[in-house]
Amino acid sequence: MHVPFLDLQAINLQLEQELLDATRRVLGSGRYILGQEVEDFEREFAEYCEVGHAVGVANGLDALILSLKALGVCPGDEVLVPSNTYIATWLAVSHVGAVPVPVEPSLATCNMDPDRLEAARTQRTRAVMPVHLYGQPADLNPILDFANTHGLVVVEDAAQAHGARYKGRRIGGHGHAVGWSFYPGKNLGGLGDGGAITTNDADLAKELRTLRNYGSQSKYHNEVIGWNSRLDELQAALLRIKLRRLDAGNTQRARIAALYGKELANLPELVVPHVIEGVVPAWHLYTVRLPRRDDLARHLAGQGVGTMIHYPTPPHRQAAYTSLGLGQGSQPIAENMAAQLLSLPIGPIMNLDDAILVSHSIRNFFDL
Ligand SMILES: *Cc1c(COP(=O)(O)O)cnc(C)c1O
Repeated sequence: MHVPFLDLQAINLQLEQELLDATRRVLGSGRYILGQEVEDFEREFAEYCEVGHAVGVANGLDALILSLKALGVCPGDEVLVPSNTYIATWLAVSHVGAVPVPVEPSLATCNMDPDRLEAARTQRTRAVMPVHLYGQPADLNPILDFANTHGLVVVEDAAQAHGARYKGRRIGGHGHAVGWSFYPGKNLGGLGDGGAITTNDADLAKELRTLRNYGSQSKYHNEVIGWNSRLDELQAALLRIKLRRLDAGNTQRARIAALYGKELANLPELVVPHVIEGVVPAWHLYTVRLPRRDDLARHLAGQGVGTMIHYPTPPHRQAAYTSLGLGQGSQPIAENMAAQLLSLPIGPIMNLDDAILVSHSIRNFFDL
């Protein structure tokens, strides 16, 4: 492969010595769950996100489940979710017994369209879950206004948006709770699973610390029916090192995105990502849209360029959600995106020469 989609091994091996030193530090500490590393990471990540509190948990899905639970979303409630998202957003809703109600994206941004929220609202609507998909911040102000007007809670899925900004402020403190994933391939990724919740609500943070640890604040006193969902010391120690590289990695992603934006503008049929006003994307993915998506993917593979599809099947068409009865054609915009979106190589240490090579391979697909 001349240009891999994402070279995770190279990204982590670049930091080999520091990651090994941190591993030794944890090994020698004798403390492997909820110790100093998690505490330090939580403080550093909250600072980074310009938010009051961060609570480390086991993964991104749990971050969303615990957030909904702590904010009082109950069985039978309805939660407005994007029709175009990774299925984890929907699964979190189902795991608290609530029902995911899809809201279509705007074609330009691929994110939840605020103008479609009102039509999806019922007496049972309790929460809205904007997702900052591909690292593009969702248009939060109209979503927050809508939630305020109707007394709904807002849980953001920021699993793809580490470091992104909306109207000057980092993603992490706009909604009531914000769920993060540190899955290895994310902009801030560990060497295993990990997640966090950020919030400006001190009581909510305390409740989340209880829920993640068996519903217990002090050992062997269990106040509520909690989970075992803790970020472990080793991942926290590794993530502290990765966090120091996040801005530099995002800057390189932005350079690649700018290059693609310039090289791929005005190609027939191909639409590049649209960035809404007042945001700084994290560029987790660089996703183009075109009708002949599968032909382009095949052409690029033949030239040694790795691509991926995010996502080939929208949540409402997965077998897991047949019970909702949302047939083919029920979410036409999300279905169109599943058929036409293609993610190009982008990453924190990918070089611009490779991005030029990818652009040229795309241009010669169009005989240019
Ligand atoms: C990765 C991801 C998640 C889930 O994170 P895990 O840590 O894998 O549980 C949730 N939502 C979105 C949009 C994601 O990309």
